Amino acid sequence: MASAPWVPIRTCIGCRRRLPKPQLIVIKLNEGRFEVYPPGTKLPGRSLYLCPRADCLDKLRRRKKVVFKAQPPGRSIIPLSSEAGRELLAKLARLIERLGPPDENRLAGPGQARRGEM
Ligand SMILES: [Zn+2]
Repeated sequence: MASAPWVPIRTCIGCRRRLPKPQLIVIKLNEGRFEVYPPGTKLPGRSLYLCPRADCLDKLRRRKKVVFKAQPPGRSIIPLSSEAGRELLAKLARLIERLGPPDENRLAGPGQARRGEM
């Protein structure tokens, strides 16, 4: 009973669902540029999160902007039409493609998918 591990919950900026942080893509804003990291990456400081799903990327695209509750000065609002915003969408698309659909990841464990499929 006491052994249920505590998992931090974060909100996906696409679908706005609240999900365990280790399942979400990590987005950092670094000197005006976005960096994206695979789910489970641990980084210090503020981040935004997105489900690794093309769906959520589409939803994010429709939001037109990204709001970073940044450091002490308050908020940074970055329009997705800006250079940084477009770069973010491109990076997310590439990362999501690389990760593949979440369900497939679960079925094809490490080493399983590649074995004897020639
Ligand atoms: Zn989502």
